[in-house]
Amino acid sequence: MAARKSVCPRDCPDVCSMIATITDGKVVRVVGDPDHPITRGYLCGRYQHYEDLINHPDRLRTPLVRADKTAPFEEASWDDALEIIARRFHEIIDTYSPEAILPYRYLGNQGIISSNYGDRLWNRIGTSRVGMEICAIAGIEAVLRLFGRMRGTEPQHMDKTKLFIAWGKNPRETNVHGWANSFKDIKPMIVVDPFESDTAAAADIHLKLRPATDSMLAMGMMRILIENDWIDHEFIAEHTIGYEALREKVMTVALDEVTAVTGIPADQVREVAALYHEHRPGLIQVGQGLQRNINGGEIVLSVCMLAAIAGQVGVPGGGVFYSNYEWHFNDISHPEFRTGGTRLYNMIKLGRWLTENDDIRALYVYNDNPAVTCPNQTLVRKGMLREDLFVVVHDLFLTDSAKLANVVLPATTFAEHMDLHFSYWHDYVQINNKIIEPVGEARSNFATFRAIAQAMGYTDPCFLQEEDEVIAEALEGTGMRMDELIEGPVFNGEYDRTSFDDGRFGTPSGKVELLAPTYTEYGDDTYPYRLLSPKTKLMHGSQAGNLPRMARRLGEPYFYIHPQDAEHEGIDDGAIVRVQNARGSVELVARVSERVQPGMIVSYNGRWGEVNVNATTSDEEADLGGQATFQSNWVGLERAAAGRGGPTAA
Ligand code: SF4
Repeated sequence: MAARKSVCPRDCPDVCSMIATITDGKVVRVVGDPDHPITRGYLCGRYQHYEDLINHPDRLRTPLVRADKTAPFEEASWDDALEIIARRFHEIIDTYSPEAILPYRYLGNQGIISSNYGDRLWNRIGTSRVGMEICAIAGIEAVLRLFGRMRGTEPQHMDKTKLFIAWGKNPRETNVHGWANSFKDIKPMIVVDPFESDTAAAADIHLKLRPATDSMLAMGMMRILIENDWIDHEFIAEHTIGYEALREKVMTVALDEVTAVTGIPADQVREVAALYHEHRPGLIQVGQGLQRNINGGEIVLSVCMLAAIAGQVGVPGGGVFYSNYEWHFNDISHPEFRTGGTRLYNMIKLGRWLTENDDIRALYVYNDNPAVTCPNQTLVRKGMLREDLFVVVHDLFLTDSAKLANVVLPATTFAEHMDLHFSYWHDYVQINNKIIEPVGEARSNFATFRAIAQAMGYTDPCFLQEEDEVIAEALEGTGMRMDELIEGPVFNGEYDRTSFDDGRFGTPSGKVELLAPTYTEYGDDTYPYRLLSPKTKLMHGSQAGNLPRMARRLGEPYFYIHPQDAEHEGIDDGAIVRVQNARGSVELVARVSERVQPGMIVSYNGRWGEVNVNATTSDEEADLGGQATFQSNWVGLERAAAGRGGPTAA
């Protein structure tokens, strides 16, 4: 029996350090690393039994190929699968162009190599590319526009925090170490969320505002700060530009209007603004869900500007946090391979790109499961099934996306390959060690891309490197040492101070670039209910949904509906309801609950099966960054049948 350190690769701010126990070459137990200052010896509920994932009986063990998309899959050797991929890629390049090949991926594995090494191959070929629009981009653009750097409050300074606002954030489920290590103990705790999340249920004050009206609430709070002279004149004068435009706009917004739009009583807006002024430093954590609205950019801009005029930015334990997605590793993708431009596709419109024309002739999916996670699901599935589209999917399981492929490649878990990890929240960096041999014939992204490059006939030396050499390349000049990172988490000393405490911002002016905040009213007259589809603590995107312990707790896919709406629609608790709009429909079990508001329903995203809530979600873009707008979705309800839902609530 041996114990080895690894890192959880999920798209999660916590980036846990883990200790795996190995017996006879098999991982039999995985626990949190007690020596990691954030992990503190425990993992989230999804992965307290990571061994269930590594040893899952449904893991793909060999490549699968088929003659066409109606034929059954057959097991194949890696040599045969690679020969098919290389041949088809060459045919497409010769007949059309390298840009007719589209690699598609997000952060199914956050490791630097697992995420970025593939770009070396794509740059070498000269393929098209997708952006990163499906998750956080509108908020990232908002923070960069105001502050010029993708930094916020450091977790190591949260012992100084005197007030916590979870604005559209549910850390009790999505940032469990932040919650358990510090957030849960900060009083007062205020949650801004249209839904009664687990975090909202624990808050001192829950501002249950109408969906996507957050910028109006922020303007109301800013007005109260200005009226009471609770703003920081010195900070505004020395470290901001644009304050007059902000002030002018905010003072046109009456509190009655704020109440009419948000549903939050004026007295409660006053109370929260006063608490924010009195309990300094106050930390606002902005969730990565509210930006998935048509007006997502303006929401994040407004909330960040509230913190700025209060003079809370650059204060240890205070300020605003959206993401610390700033890192200084070397680019391992070898961009010098690209000699010209390339087509850049917005990843949320995959269904459209595949169905509106045949420009894309090959789709290579890794770190992603678009048939489940992409909006406008019906169109995505239709496009991926195009018979003239060559589809390769590299994954652990025969996912819904893999089922639409020509070639399926078996992937490794974190335990079976090496990688380099950092967090978009805390500042610890760590190398994930390969601790067992791959299960079956599984290969990592790294090994697979290197093999494809060789099958394509590329003899460039960079495709002969080993994993540790690529990690060394990523670390060169950073001051971080591979031998230390292999042993466990290392604090990145570059961030051993409060971001912006020197009053220097990364914007062109070097100051916070304030602007007049906005609130954009929008809706859909065709359908009566707004469907929000947040994350569940039982899954990660679509990941973990097939782990037996999670699947049992998830039960049948369901949605929450307010008792008033349920009565109006004649829907009983447990009834099966068709949730539909012009894009598609999905049958869900009704859970009648006051966790939601009238006119709004909530169903967790990422559920497996040919159809989930993404059958109804839109591929329209938000106001910044081409951001996905999953939460700007209107549906109708139609009772499908009587019946009971799953056994437990999430
Ligand atoms: S998903 Fe997040 S909280 Fe859970 S084990 Fe992985 S890094 Fe830790």
